[in-house]
Amino acid sequence: MLIVMKFGGTSVGSAERIAQAAALVTAARDKGHHVAAVTSAMSGVTNSLIEAAQAASKGNLDAALRQRLYDRHKAVADAVIQDAAVRSVALEQIDRRLDRFEKLCYGLSMVHELTPRLLDAISGTGEMLAAPLVAGAIAARGRGSSAIDATDCIVTTDQFGGAEPLMDETRAKMQATVRPLIERGESPVLTGFIGATVDGVLTTLGRGGSDYSASIVGAALDADEIWIWTDVDGVLSANPSEVPDARTLAEISYSEASELAYYGAKVLHYKTILPAFRKRIPLRILNSFNPTHSGTRVSVEGDPSIPGVKAVTSIRGVSLITISGTGMQGIPGIVAKAFEVVAEQQSNVLMISQASSENNMCFVITAADAPRVVKALRGTLELELSRGHVEEISAQPVAVVAAIGDRMRGTPGIAATVFGALGSEGINVIAISQGSSERNISLVVGEPEAAPAIRALHRAFRLDRAAVAAK
Ligand code: ADP
Ligand code: ASP
Ligand code: MG
Repeated sequence: MLIVMKFGGTSVGSAERIAQAAALVTAARDKGHHVAAVTSAMSGVTNSLIEAAQAASKGNLDAALRQRLYDRHKAVADAVIQDAAVRSVALEQIDRRLDRFEKLCYGLSMVHELTPRLLDAISGTGEMLAAPLVAGAIAARGRGSSAIDATDCIVTTDQFGGAEPLMDETRAKMQATVRPLIERGESPVLTGFIGATVDGVLTTLGRGGSDYSASIVGAALDADEIWIWTDVDGVLSANPSEVPDARTLAEISYSEASELAYYGAKVLHYKTILPAFRKRIPLRILNSFNPTHSGTRVSVEGDPSIPGVKAVTSIRGVSLITISGTGMQGIPGIVAKAFEVVAEQQSNVLMISQASSENNMCFVITAADAPRVVKALRGTLELELSRGHVEEISAQPVAVVAAIGDRMRGTPGIAATVFGALGSEGINVIAISQGSSERNISLVVGEPEAAPAIRALHRAFRLDRAAVAAK
């Protein structure tokens, strides 16, 4: 069986963690499986790279960061790679990458401009620093391994900061570069998060994108399973740092995983599911700190015996855009115009709701996009505003709270429980939306009310208890 194993930032956050990652790879190899690994940057590294790039573009060079990053990675190399020759090759690679990072920052401090393309070139460095260490640690356990830059095998569009894989090109490169290594019995370590355009320009898949990389790699290599090693026991019924009694879900469907990730469960990047789903490759989410736990399995069926809501989640840092006016009724095309504006502004709509009276429509977008979108809407709907058909276009910071489960469909009373739970906590629901798939009810609440809303829903659906299978 070929397993693609992805290690998140905390799972490669120290020498000890990298040794553990290598042990997990070799344990699977000992059982006769082939393994291709995908690694994130060591925890905190991507953030510090991004901060350094932003500061450099304002003329503030962080002269000490290169050394700090070198020292942190060198300490790991010293601890996990015993062979001096292998260690010096890894350190040389790391040094070259840090050199490039330093030069890029210097350039930014000269031109005082940070383009998305340059930001990708810098923020993608962290994975390129980590991969030689993970590969070195696997090799130190007597298993063949080498670090592979995903720029050589994941081909993407040029949407810097959120590039999309070109799967045919990626598959061809992956089969040519990575497949032969696996067939030779090696366990290559690919950099997560990054890829390159057809012209070879480095791109990133978006923050948290190493999960997506793992799914892309799994699909391109026709892997049998994809294992996402993280720092919690799988996908839980809620974010465990927000709801302490959240439980691990043993099995969920691709669609449940996708909805959860889309609505804010950071444990999976929201695009992770699609490449795996297209090839029906099962995904597992596992805890590298507790590897004997069976984690969560993501499959076609999920666990259809569990009725109703399986998990609750939330998205913060979003804004509710409202377009209202008693004269909106019967004026055709306002909705179409509004969404055209949002698309032109390259903003992604997370949720839509419209009152049936048609005198109010609202939708949720990322808060950072809100000022731009409101300004553009006011420009495009100028005529409607001047005639009084539209009275107000406004943005309000909010949170979206979502209750998710495939078997919510056909289970009566869920909306009543949702509103009952929130009502008894005195939480005001600003807008609501339920897709026709009925596997998700999403509610807009004030930002400070997101955490109490999540806890109230978790309690109301008794998600802290083992689910009882439906007869
Ligand atoms: P990694 O570095 O391994 O990619 P992340 O920090 O990106 O890890 O994702 C794991 C974190 O996701 C957990 O530590 C947890 O705080 C958060 N999280 C949010 N919602 C959920 C959920 N429903 N189930 C599990 N973890 C969740
Ligand atoms: N290192 C990248 C980030 O922090 C990607 C990842 O960890 O998934 O966003
Ligand atoms: Mg992550």
